[in-house]
Amino acid sequence: MMQVLRTVAELRRWSRTLRAAGGNIIGLVPTMGALHEGHASLIRAARAGCAQVAVSLFVNPTQFGPNEDFARYPRSFEADGALAEAAGADVLFAPTVEELYPNGAESTFVDVPILSDRLDGASRPGHFRGVATVVTKLFLAAEPDRAYFGQKDAAQVAVLRRMTADLRLATEIVVCPIVRDADGLALSSRNAYLTPAERTQALVLSRAVRHVESLVAGGERRAPILLASAHGVFAAVPEVRVDYIALLDWATLDPVEIAASGTLFAVAAWAGSTRLIDNAILP
Ligand code: AMP
Repeated sequence: MMQVLRTVAELRRWSRTLRAAGGNIIGLVPTMGALHEGHASLIRAARAGCAQVAVSLFVNPTQFGPNEDFARYPRSFEADGALAEAAGADVLFAPTVEELYPNGAESTFVDVPILSDRLDGASRPGHFRGVATVVTKLFLAAEPDRAYFGQKDAAQVAVLRRMTADLRLATEIVVCPIVRDADGLALSSRNAYLTPAERTQALVLSRAVRHVESLVAGGERRAPILLASAHGVFAAVPEVRVDYIALLDWATLDPVEIAASGTLFAVAAWAGSTRLIDNAILP
């Protein structure tokens, strides 16, 4: 039976009791709820790799900009609990904002300034600082051996890998593949905002990703050619507004001139007022 925990003290007691018992690998899957099959894939990976699995469910105010969707972000606690339990969670950690930010949201931050203004951080100032801060709080509370994140948020992965390395944290970051709908659209809690027309237009993101993957498979490595080609795919759907199209080193988020194995190809774009992202790690 999955337990629901509401306080940092309860989560810490759960983790420390397991650790004192010995031999328990503890997995953590941080989420903002509105769970879908992408989240389920992370929970199942954690279930397969760890003795005990905690899923956190927290819409983190500090990673939203002032004009973003914090207030209307989908919240579905009952359905999330059922999905998390079915996917193998032992514990659901669902704190209040006051529990994780006891002195308000502006009191203490963790930041990776060398990466935090890249990609999504460029159009969402403060976003990655909010992510790094809340993930640090979750890591300090749960003290997980492994934490599971989706490649879908590839820049977030780069920020969190750097953060855990710099802070010498004991938690291993495990990255899981992007889960997509049958037509290719990467699953996202924000897909719920899309009108039927926008949902169709949004397929341009995965089309651009597949297009670049196929050019690379055909031997093209030059970034200017690959990026121009991806812009061409987006040009066919003018309703969708591009935020960025980029080829970068996944660790440093520096642009590359020549795509290599492990290079990150990433796109972000608005379909209506909904900002969507997609990417591929090149083979
Ligand atoms: P979120 O609830 O949007 O903060 O996402 C929680 C975790 O689920 C993050 O590590 C995301 O990268 C991951 N995630 C979200 N969508 C997907 C997806 N389509 N495939 C794989 N992982 C995902």
